[in-house]
Amino acid sequence: MTLQPPASHFVAGAFREDAAGEAIPVIYPATGEEIARVHAATPAILEEALAAAAAAQPAWAALRPVERGRVLTRAAWLIRERAEELARLETLDTGKPISETRVADWPSCADALEFFGGLAATISGEMIPLGGDWAYTMRVPLGVTVGIGAWNYPTQTAAWKAAPALACGNTMVFKPSELTPLGALRLAGILAEAGAPPGVFSVVQGRGDVGAALAGDARVRKVALTGSVPTGRKVYRLAAEGMRRATLELGGKSPLVIFADADLDAAVGGAMLGNFYSSGQVCSNGTRVFVERSVETEFLARLAARTAAIRIGDPLDESTTFGPLISEAQREKVLGYIAAGRAEGARLVIGGGVPQRPGFYVEPTVFADVTDDMTIAREEIFGPVMCVLAFDTEEEVIARANATEFGLSAGVFTRDLARAHRVIGRIAAGSCWINSYNLTPVEVPFGGTKMSGLGHENGRSAIEHWTEVKTVYVGQGGVDAPW
Ligand code: NAD
Repeated sequence: MTLQPPASHFVAGAFREDAAGEAIPVIYPATGEEIARVHAATPAILEEALAAAAAAQPAWAALRPVERGRVLTRAAWLIRERAEELARLETLDTGKPISETRVADWPSCADALEFFGGLAATISGEMIPLGGDWAYTMRVPLGVTVGIGAWNYPTQTAAWKAAPALACGNTMVFKPSELTPLGALRLAGILAEAGAPPGVFSVVQGRGDVGAALAGDARVRKVALTGSVPTGRKVYRLAAEGMRRATLELGGKSPLVIFADADLDAAVGGAMLGNFYSSGQVCSNGTRVFVERSVETEFLARLAARTAAIRIGDPLDESTTFGPLISEAQREKVLGYIAAGRAEGARLVIGGGVPQRPGFYVEPTVFADVTDDMTIAREEIFGPVMCVLAFDTEEEVIARANATEFGLSAGVFTRDLARAHRVIGRIAAGSCWINSYNLTPVEVPFGGTKMSGLGHENGRSAIEHWTEVKTVYVGQGGVDAPW
C-alpha cells in the first residue's frame, strides 16, 4: 500500500520537493507500515513559501470578497465530489475508521470552506456619525498568516484555519503535524484547482522546528496553532516577540457531569462519544465523567455493556468503530497512564489491554472509583481512557469540575433544564454541551479558556480573529487649529 504524494510541499501554486530536508516516514497506524515519505522543509522551501504568501496577499485581498468566497465554495464542492477517496486518504493518514472519516473529517473541512466562502462577502465595517464629521471602520486582512496543525483531525484543523483566513483576504502557510502530512497537502491542491492563486495557501512539512521558524518570521502577522499546552506556550512567545496575533487551540481535561435524573442511555452515549471517538484523541473529550452517586452502578453497567460491543478492527472495514492510536509513542504514553491508574487505586471496569493485532491499538478503557488527585484525573491522556468519578451535590461537582488548569470543554446531562444552564454557566470552559457531547458544527464558535487556549475558530466570531479594525475619521468642514 502506498500513498506517495506528488511531492512533500505545495508552494506557490505547485507541488515542490527538496530532498535535502529530513526524510519523515508516514506510517499507517493500523499496521505500522510505511505508506509514504515526505521531506521536512528546508530554509529554501520556507523562504519560497513565505515570499509567495507575501507576494500573493495584496491581490488576493483586493479581489471582490464574493470572488474569494467563490474559490472556497468551489473547493468545498470538489471535496464533496471526491468524498470517498478523501475519506480513505484520511483513514490511511490517521488510522481512524472509515466509518468516522466519511462523516467527520473532510465533510467538516467542506463545511468550513462553504461557511466562510459564504461569509466572505458579508464582512464589513460600520459608519459612525459624529454630528457633521463622521468616521468609518473597516475590517482589513492581517496579511501573511501561519497555521500549525495537530495529528488527530489533520484536514479539519487545516480547513478551520485556512477557510476563515482566506475568506478575510489573508494568505496562509500551513504546517501539518509531522505524523499526518497528507490531508493538508491534498487540500492545498484542491484549493488551487478551485482557483486559489499561487501563494494564497501553501503547505510545508516538518517538525516543531519548522513550525517555530514560521511562527517567528517577521513577515507573519498571525499564527494559529492546534496542539498541546507546552507547544502553545512556545508559539505564543514567538508570536509575542513580533507582536503577532495568535489563536491557540490547546489541550483539555474536560468534565462531563451526569445527574441522576438524566436520560441514562443518552448520557452513556455522550460519555462514550466524548472518550472513544477517534480512539480518544480529541481535545474536547469529556474525560472526567462525574456521575451522581445514586446512578453510578447502573451507569457503569450500561457503559460496560456498550463498551464491550465496540468493534475494534481494520479501519478500512466499514463495520469497524474503533481504530488504533496515531503512533507507537502515543500508545506507550496511554499505556503508561493506564498503569498509573491501576497503581494509584482506580478500579478497572473494562479494557486496559492491547488487542492482539498489528498497529498501535489500545482497548477502550473505563476506570471507576477515580479521585480528583489521581494522575489519570489530572493530566490529558489523549487516548481511550475514561475516568468515572462519583459526586453527591451540585455545588460539589461544580467545584471539582473547575479544579483544573484546563478550560476547553464541559458537558451536562440532566432533564432539569434550569439546572443544566445553571451548572454549565458556572463551569469555566469555552465550548460546552447540554444533553449532547462533542458536536462541533462550523456555525458555532469553538475554543477554550484558561490553559486550553486563546481565541476561537469557526462561527461568525472567527472573522474577528482573522481581520483587524481600521478606523478612518472624515472631516467635513474646515480644520479648527489653534494657531
Ligand atoms: P503538539 O503540540 O505536539 O504539536 C502540534 C503541532 O505543533 C505539530 O504540527 C508540531 O510539529 C508543532 N510544533 C511542535 N513544537 C513546535 C514549536 N516549538 N513551534 C511551533 N510548532 C511546533 O500536539 P500534537 O501531539 O500534535 O496534538 C495533540 C495535542 O493537541 C493535544 O494536547 C490536544 O488536546 C491538542 N488538540 C487541541 C485541539 C483544539 O482544538 N483545542 C484539537 C486537536 C488537538
